[in-house]
Amino acid sequence: MEPNATRIEALIRELLIEIGEDPNREGLLRTPHRVAAAMAFLTSGSRTNIDKLINNAIFTQKTNSMVIVKNIEVYSLCEHHMLPFFGRCHIGYIPSGRVFGVSKLARLVDMYARRLQLQERLTEQISQQVMELVGAKGVGVMIEARHLCMMMRGVEKQNSVMITSSVLGTFRESTATREEFLGLVATRGT
Ligand SMILES: [Zn+2]
Repeated sequence: MEPNATRIEALIRELLIEIGEDPNREGLLRTPHRVAAAMAFLTSGSRTNIDKLINNAIFTQKTNSMVIVKNIEVYSLCEHHMLPFFGRCHIGYIPSGRVFGVSKLARLVDMYARRLQLQERLTEQISQQVMELVGAKGVGVMIEARHLCMMMRGVEKQNSVMITSSVLGTFRESTATREEFLGLVATRGT
């Protein structure tokens, strides 16, 4: 169900007053409206239908070679502070007869990122979904991200990057496969 924009607008107005702002000043007049629209978009992944998203873009392909898509941009909101965390996601999988259309992995990342998240959970949800959707032999997902809740407040560490990874199937069982993935992800691609 879509969030109720009118209700969010009223809540944001209240919030503005509570932090000492005047919601009637020129710059803030339409802010509740903008925030409501932004929040609806930034959490839209939790209301996305995965079948519609994939839209049959899974193809038969006889290959046992590792497929890697690197540097997929990630923009999400941490569920502890509702502040953004952002970075890059790398996905590798070994197909078992079926592969994704090339844009679908990026769409999958967006779907799981557009909601209140933990980076650890985001990483696992992506790997499990890739595994399930194409019945892969193995999957590896790595996310490198910076968290504004850490950079702007709290410990104020502006340069720390959090790295999470999730490996399934052959990526978990075989050191060679895992190392191939990590090696390909570590090299600077264009
Ligand atoms: Zn946080």
